[in-house]
Amino acid sequence: MPLIVQKFGGTSVADSEKILAAARKAIRTQRENNQVVMVVSAMGQNTDVLVDLAHQVNRRPPAREMDMLLSTGEQVSVALMAMAIDALGYKAMSLTGGQMGIITDATHTKARIRSIATQRLRKLLDDGYIVIAAGFQGIDEYHDITTLGRGGSDTTAVALAAVLKADQCEIYTDVDGVYTTDPRLLPEARRVQRISYDEMLELASLGSGVMHNRSIEFAKKYAVPIHVRSSLSDITGTMILAEPESAERAVCGAAMSASEARITVVGVPDVPGMSLEIFSRLADCRITVDMIVQNVGEKGKSDISFTVPGSELEAALQAVQEAAAVVGASEVTHDDQVAKVSVVGLGMAHQTGVANQMFSALGAEGINIQMITTSEIKISALVDRDSALPALRAVHQVYQLEQEPAERPADQPPAQPPATRATHNNNGPDLGSLVERLQGIDMEELLISDVTLDQSQALVTIVGIPNQPGVAAKVFQSIADAGIFVDMIVQGHKGYLGRISLSFTVPADQLPLALEVTQQLANHFNCHAVTHRPHVAKLSVSGIGLRSHTGVAIRMFRALADAQINMDMISTSEVRVNVVVDGPHGQQGLRQLQTALADVLH
Ligand code: ADP
Ligand code: ASP
Ligand code: MG
Repeated sequence: MPLIVQKFGGTSVADSEKILAAARKAIRTQRENNQVVMVVSAMGQNTDVLVDLAHQVNRRPPAREMDMLLSTGEQVSVALMAMAIDALGYKAMSLTGGQMGIITDATHTKARIRSIATQRLRKLLDDGYIVIAAGFQGIDEYHDITTLGRGGSDTTAVALAAVLKADQCEIYTDVDGVYTTDPRLLPEARRVQRISYDEMLELASLGSGVMHNRSIEFAKKYAVPIHVRSSLSDITGTMILAEPESAERAVCGAAMSASEARITVVGVPDVPGMSLEIFSRLADCRITVDMIVQNVGEKGKSDISFTVPGSELEAALQAVQEAAAVVGASEVTHDDQVAKVSVVGLGMAHQTGVANQMFSALGAEGINIQMITTSEIKISALVDRDSALPALRAVHQVYQLEQEPAERPADQPPAQPPATRATHNNNGPDLGSLVERLQGIDMEELLISDVTLDQSQALVTIVGIPNQPGVAAKVFQSIADAGIFVDMIVQGHKGYLGRISLSFTVPADQLPLALEVTQQLANHFNCHAVTHRPHVAKLSVSGIGLRSHTGVAIRMFRALADAQINMDMISTSEVRVNVVVDGPHGQQGLRQLQTALADVLH
């Protein structure tokens, strides 16, 4: 019999009527000859209320006690849901994370799932019960209650769908699907019919709160088809699958994270191992770092800037101050009034002139870009917090995200039957064996699929370009007009004399042309210098959830530092970490990384 996991978020179980409505949906699904597991979040804003209460009695509540407290929210709703189903005349049983056998590590408030026992769940399902699983929680090896991080019920749902080999995982929420950006921020946002795992993973970790990013790691790893849909209607929502909505579009969605903070470590000696010193301390605190930019500084020193979630600023600053003292940096500065605006799309990996459109749109609005980083499938710009919404709007508009992709005529009904696991995986891996194989390791353990070396690129840096709106747009417009494909871009936070440096990689055979264009730009903007490296080596590690596994980048940095290899550029994304090093170090760097990551390379 098919098995369907249905997850109901907080707003979808906010009061007794909504609980009864959700109960009816599950019953209907069971009556249609399916086994049903419901995953339920805490009612309404209950988790927020509990967090607030905790802070009223303790400014820094102990993480273990926080989990004890927050897990009660879900316990209330699962019990009520089971009662509702019972009242409607059907069999249901509620289970906490511990009762279901969801075993996690002991990282309270950010625990990762290690394993899930399925025996009891299967027995209940076979006996005709609708199983009501408490979202967001598990237990560690001491039976202490843990939680998976805010929004973690999505992860519970997809993880259960994975281990139970469910045919589909339905996420019922207060929007009727995944939109090109948060429809509450931009009413012109468009609901997409389908989005790929990689794109959703990036969007989720860049601020699209509709799905918990770690749930998408599970979905991708175990090929779980997800259907995001409204709890208020029956209309088809958005499928999250391996394939993107459009093969041609460069950008599929935009996201904004309004509560970012920038940290800059000023005057770091430009020798191998310095980034490692800084970022390993942050990784030890499980702080996710994004937008890493190293600026060439004065007298052989460099400035290292990066962003962290605003909520982690205090802890991050403490860790960074310690590192700064060890490496002999001159100071640590920060800014908590910044926001990150990003665009994501699988298509951008193969198209020229994608980034400059974003920069032009921001320039036209007079919005200054404080930092830029890119990876194969995303571009992020750091802007002043007050400019965040206009920036998101401008970017959404420039890529015409409100319009349907050309390949799918607007009049063609999008209501294809949602993919099930069977249809979705016709050509995919053998799921049974995949799940079995992965059950031998921690479920949320890191999976690295590839370590690669690309020696085809050159690096260009414009030093001392003015820090004002429209500059990046002009630079990358000129580069795109010359037909040059730009791969990685980083623009640092303002450094020496309030100016910035802008680095990018181009195919080595296009270097002469790129230098010609760049030199003209440098003259135009009265820059200090244009520097270049004719051959750089780009070392890349690909996998799933590489940013949430804060340790991956650290292992890479350590492996390179041990071999005394200096890193010129770093870019991170959920599916890839890239490091650019000097060309002659490429092969040695590759070997170092292969050895350092051998245990997680699958
Ligand atoms: P739930 O409580 O059901 O888990 P969430 O609040 O976590 O619901 O997620 C749904 C919300 O996500 C929506 O109300 C919407 O404001 C927000 N959101 C952010 N980005 C997107 C997006 N790209 N598409 C749809 N919704 C989004
Ligand atoms: N109740 C938890 C939260 O609000 C988990 C969830 O809803 O997904 O974060
Ligand atoms: Mg949610």
